[in-house]
Amino acid sequence: MLIDSFNRKVDYLRVSVTQRCNFRCQYCMPEKPFEWTPKEQILSYEEMFKFIKISIDNGVTKIRLTGGEPLVREDLDKLIKMIYDYKNDIDLALTTNGFLLKNQIVKLKTAGLKRVNISIDSLLKETFWYLTKKDALEAVQEGIEAAIEAGMIVKLNTVVMKDINNNEIVKLYEYAKQRDIQIRFIEYMENENALESLKTVPSAEVLQEISKRYSIEELPVKENSAAKLFKDEHGFVFGIIEPYDDSFCKTCNRIRLSAEGDLIPCLYYEDSLNIKSAIQSDDKLEAVLKEVVKNKPEKNKWSHTTNQSLDNTPKEISSRAFYFTGG
Ligand code: SAM
Ligand code: SF4
Repeated sequence: MLIDSFNRKVDYLRVSVTQRCNFRCQYCMPEKPFEWTPKEQILSYEEMFKFIKISIDNGVTKIRLTGGEPLVREDLDKLIKMIYDYKNDIDLALTTNGFLLKNQIVKLKTAGLKRVNISIDSLLKETFWYLTKKDALEAVQEGIEAAIEAGMIVKLNTVVMKDINNNEIVKLYEYAKQRDIQIRFIEYMENENALESLKTVPSAEVLQEISKRYSIEELPVKENSAAKLFKDEHGFVFGIIEPYDDSFCKTCNRIRLSAEGDLIPCLYYEDSLNIKSAIQSDDKLEAVLKEVVKNKPEKNKWSHTTNQSLDNTPKEISSRAFYFTGG
């Protein structure tokens, strides 16, 4: 079992399989990075699996594959199958922009994928294009339908931004509600890679918009959940993710592996250790895993209301890209 210095059990691994992406979301990767990391420097699926196996042996029970866009990396089903064949009760999930999902979902499910989170920030063709620089709304919606049809557990992720999609909160809510799939509204997080003009919409405003139509109540907090959950009068459950709120840190159970092999203890903390030099030895891999868990910080180093943290150390806008860490 992996226990960090603050007595938190770490049992959730997020693996970014590539930093590449077929979208240019304005809050994540508005421009292509000057150069992609060369393919030779990216972990192979076999190398990722070596580390994943060690993590499972040490108590990881939940794995999420993410990116960049994980579906642009060929044969993702092979990695899923390796994990499933090793331990078929792992809670194995994927986060995707949905563009390539329709044609892959059956293959992914057959390989052992259990759940899929699909990002969708607008139901308007023009806004969708503005946000992603891809004429892809229809394909993403087809991906969502295909995932539901395949019997997957589906959730939607929506980043809410002022004067861009905050007028679509109820529309997106009802889109999810009609399909009986959970939607989670995520507060936009400033970062050095995002388009500078983007502005966060506080979660209170999202809740206020939904409350104009529906009567909502907050559900008890689920341990380890990044989302606060709410239920409306029809029993429809939706979530709010407030990345700046460090109350979530008290029960944070996750670590992240980047496609380049960086093992990252916290999304909002710059330190990490690379696993590549340890890849030939299970013992060395286990040592790196334990070292990173030991160094997991108590809480995130972000704030959007002040430049200071609670303990008065300066908080900075992260330079770590979402397409690198996988969000
Ligand atoms: N490409 C996949 C996708 O978009 O779902 C997976 C990777 S993406 C980095 C993972 C999640 O991070 C997405 O739901 C995306 O909306 C979210 N994300 C990216 N940049 C963000 C930001 N600046 N603030 C909040 N969420 C962000
Ligand atoms: Fe690509 Fe996902 Fe980032 Fe959008 S949020 S640019 S889809 S990695």
